[in-house]
Amino acid sequence: MSLEPVCSPAPPSPVYGPVRSWRYGRSLGVDLLFQDSICSFDCVYCQLGRINRVVDRQEVFVPTARVLDALGRVAMDEVDWVTFSGNGEPTLALNIGEVLEAVRERHGKPTLVLTNSTWLFDAATRARLRSAAVIDCKLDAATDATLRRVNRPAPGITLERIITGIQAMRREPGFAGKLALQCMFLPATVGEARALADLIARIGPDEVQLNTPRRPKPRAWEVANRAGVRDGEQEGLVRLATITREQAAEIEGVLRERTDVPILSVY
Ligand code: SF4
Repeated sequence: MSLEPVCSPAPPSPVYGPVRSWRYGRSLGVDLLFQDSICSFDCVYCQLGRINRVVDRQEVFVPTARVLDALGRVAMDEVDWVTFSGNGEPTLALNIGEVLEAVRERHGKPTLVLTNSTWLFDAATRARLRSAAVIDCKLDAATDATLRRVNRPAPGITLERIITGIQAMRREPGFAGKLALQCMFLPATVGEARALADLIARIGPDEVQLNTPRRPKPRAWEVANRAGVRDGEQEGLVRLATITREQAAEIEGVLRERTDVPILSVY
C-alpha cells in the first residue's frame, strides 16, 4: 500500500493520519501497539526500521478506552477507511475485536487489518477479526527456511501454522469480508514463486498483492515510522534489494498459470 502523510496529530497517540493510500483513499491508522515496535516477526524489510520486541504473546498494550477516545476526536468525514497496522502486528493486541466493532458501530467506516498471519491459527483471534471489511494477510515464504531468513519469526512460529491459520480465516463463520494475500518478493526469493503459487492456490484468497520493498528502511525505530518513511525524510535510510520489473512480470505469469486469483502488482 502506498501511503503519503497528509496530516498527523502529535504522537504519541494510538490514532494517526489520515494518510493517503492509492487503494483506500484517506486511511486513518489505528495503532494498538504504539508504545514500542512489537511484532511476532522481524522482517528484513520492515518499514518500522527495527522490531524492538519480537514476541509471540498477546496482551492489551493500549487500553480500549484510550483508543476510542482518540478515535472520537477525529473528523471522520475526512476518513474513507480505518486501517489497523501501526507499530507492529495488530492481532497481538487482545482488544482489536472491541476496537473493530466500535469503529463499525460508532463511526460506520470500513476497516482494513494488515496482519502477518501468525495468530490466525487461534480461534479467538479469528473471531475478533470477523467484522473487518478486508484482511490483508502476509505470506512471503514457501518454506520454513525462507520464513526464518526473511520474516525472522519469534521461536515456535512455523509456515504450517501460518498457512492453516489463513485457511481457517478464509472459512471463518461470520467473516463476510475480503481476504487478500500480500506477498513481498526479494531477489533471493524469486525462485520460490512456483511453490508460493501452489500455497496460494490451496488458500484461494480473493486477491494477491505482489510486492517488493521499494521504500528505504529506517535504521532505527521511532513512532512516526508507522505512517511510512520516504527518501530524504530521515538520516541514514537503507536501500533494500528489490526484484526488477521483468522478474515481477515473470512471477505474475507463474501465479496466473497456477492459480486463478486476481493479482495486483506493485509494478
Ligand atoms: S510483520 Fe510487518 S510489522 Fe512485523 S516485522 Fe514484518 S513488516 Fe514489520
